[in-house]
Amino acid sequence: MESTPRPHVDGEADMAEAVHALELTLPLVLRPLARVAYNYWWSWSVEGRELFESLDPALWERTGGNPVRLLYDLSVARSEALAADPAVVARVQALATAFYAAMHAPRVASAEAGRSVAFMCAEFGLDASLPLYAGGLGVLAGDYMKEASDQGRPVIGLGMLYWEGAFHQRLDGQGWQQEYWLELEPERLPAALVTRADGAPLIVHASIRGRRVATRVWRVDVGRVPLFLLDTDLPENTLVDRWITARLYVGDRETRIAQYALLGVSGIRALRAMGITPDVIHLNEGHAAFASLELVHDALEQGLSFDDALAAARERTVFTTHTPVAAGNDTFSETELHDALNGIPEQLGFAWDQFVSLGRVRPEDRSERFGLTPFALRMSRAANGVSRRHGEVSREMWREFWPGRDVADVPIGHITNGVHLPTWMDPHMQRLLDRYLPADWRNRAADPTVWEAVEQIPADELWDARCRMRANLVSFVRDRSVWDRLGRGTSTAYAELAARLWQPGTLTLGFARRIATYKRLYLLAMDQHRSVHLLNGAQPFQVVIAGKAHPQDDEAKRSVQGFFHLNAQEAVGGRAVFLEDYDLDMARRLVAGCDVWVNLPRPPFEASGTSGMKSMLNGGLQLAVPDGWWEEAYDGMNGWVVDGGFSHDPAEQDARDAGALLDLLESQVVPLFYNRDVAGIPHTWVERIKASLRTLGPRFNTARMLSDYAERYNAGVGVLSGPPLA
Ligand SMILES: *Cc1c(COP(=O)(O)O)cnc(C)c1O
Repeated sequence: MESTPRPHVDGEADMAEAVHALELTLPLVLRPLARVAYNYWWSWSVEGRELFESLDPALWERTGGNPVRLLYDLSVARSEALAADPAVVARVQALATAFYAAMHAPRVASAEAGRSVAFMCAEFGLDASLPLYAGGLGVLAGDYMKEASDQGRPVIGLGMLYWEGAFHQRLDGQGWQQEYWLELEPERLPAALVTRADGAPLIVHASIRGRRVATRVWRVDVGRVPLFLLDTDLPENTLVDRWITARLYVGDRETRIAQYALLGVSGIRALRAMGITPDVIHLNEGHAAFASLELVHDALEQGLSFDDALAAARERTVFTTHTPVAAGNDTFSETELHDALNGIPEQLGFAWDQFVSLGRVRPEDRSERFGLTPFALRMSRAANGVSRRHGEVSREMWREFWPGRDVADVPIGHITNGVHLPTWMDPHMQRLLDRYLPADWRNRAADPTVWEAVEQIPADELWDARCRMRANLVSFVRDRSVWDRLGRGTSTAYAELAARLWQPGTLTLGFARRIATYKRLYLLAMDQHRSVHLLNGAQPFQVVIAGKAHPQDDEAKRSVQGFFHLNAQEAVGGRAVFLEDYDLDMARRLVAGCDVWVNLPRPPFEASGTSGMKSMLNGGLQLAVPDGWWEEAYDGMNGWVVDGGFSHDPAEQDARDAGALLDLLESQVVPLFYNRDVAGIPHTWVERIKASLRTLGPRFNTARMLSDYAERYNAGVGVLSGPPLA
């Protein structure tokens, strides 16, 4: 039986119950921690992470930084000792007060702020303790949610709870990536199962692959914004259907399309069952595009004609594309589509052929596969790319939709990505800015005048903060590199090599992101001889590299392996380190500690890139190809552009860019870093950091990004319009 819609069945009471159950296990004075533990707000408050970790550092690490698990697993002796410590009790109270204040902070007031948004995405990267993300797309979705909470916008998130999450990475003795998965145990996550008024779990159904698939819903609180996660791991489902929400981005296409059907169709049904009717459905990438089917259904139920229902569904939907290569957009054969959706479109009043044609660029061309992006473009009121450059690329890619129009008039806009400042700016940096920026700078992060005060920061203080952040990273890299190497069965001498040679005062470069071939990790070592020579020069530098290749992407795995073999040489292995199992926690440490953040995508394949923005917020300088965000960010003073010039031949382009990279390192980056005054301060370097923070800080954060989405996009003020329907 389908759950009856009724208001306020949105898991809020379930969350309160979960909090209460945890409270009962804690001494009275520690009980305020239970509510904070069940709200990911803690992860972006300066005090939250530090406090939870300090309760029991070893246990914190064993629980993967999950505060609910930590509090449940605290020994009685430990919690009694903590409760008896007045300093701990004072910190608990301060955290609870800060949490209360954040939950009741003023909300942005503007005309469009009242439009409620359901933000749908296949992945959400909130924190390492909730591994439901693979890379930039998920982290962006997580950052969007956090910013929506800070601004008090009426947003909810909708995604999936993969009970084995995303994969973890190990390299074997040959440097080949191996994947493994760990079960998440949702009961021990900061999540509450959504139940109906009668206490039974809220279940929605959809027909997927011809079977009725039951889905339950988990609620995760992200500050003031709830995230709802679908989960088919229920005994009434077949094992194959339970597998739908097992893993993020499974390789097998049949499961993948089932995931998309679930996210789109069951997702909208779950919202309806919870009594939630968002004004705007925001499809963050095409994975959730089948939501449109259910939106049409909604409109038909209200008595609209089919054409009007289609128009009404489009009117509610906006779409952000993230993929600048045609091959990166999921497409399916008509048979795959038919097997997965079995009957759904027809039930909703679509003739099958009509439905399929909506997913083709050329509707009548039966040889064209059904694409999620074309379908999403057709079924949305507005669409955008995620950087200026990506906007241009997207208009070019999809111009066929608007025959006869100039490419510049193709109505796909762009809203450049940003990152969530409190998540990504290290506490050292935040505390420094607290001293020199206007008191309310955190709430005005998108205001350029606020950032002008960066120029007032004394060079020695800024440099001191940078050195502390680098020193923290160096100690992390030393430890992790020993474990990683021992785990691969290397000699002890080699395992300890980087731990011996890495120094807190050495120029530190970072390169960390999903390892995909277009990200061109191999450029770092194309001219091996020269790279090795530079690494070990009189003015040395050290490099940390991290990232996962998609399990099916053997080419990317080979590029990791190539680096691995190079790294086995002693002259390299001491200064260059590959850290396994890149995740949000490692990313936070890397972007805070690295002096220079390297990004070498093959243009124009980087839609935006966000890790560089995170580094920028911490005073890292960018050494990057002018693609994605960097193309619109670089102004000559705020970092460096690696540009070997254009070539039609990829190999030639690689050689040029690799050369340009080493030229810049040798002639500018390295000398500038080591050019010190008598007090040891590199003044020109510090000037660059200031220029970077001042010019980029206000632009590449989610405060600016969310305002852009709200004002230019969700409000529907007629800037953009979808393509004609087939
Ligand atoms: C920011 C981030 C990414 C995205 O980095 P890009 O530079 O956009 O490739 C990927 N993974 C993690 C864990 C991140 O924090």
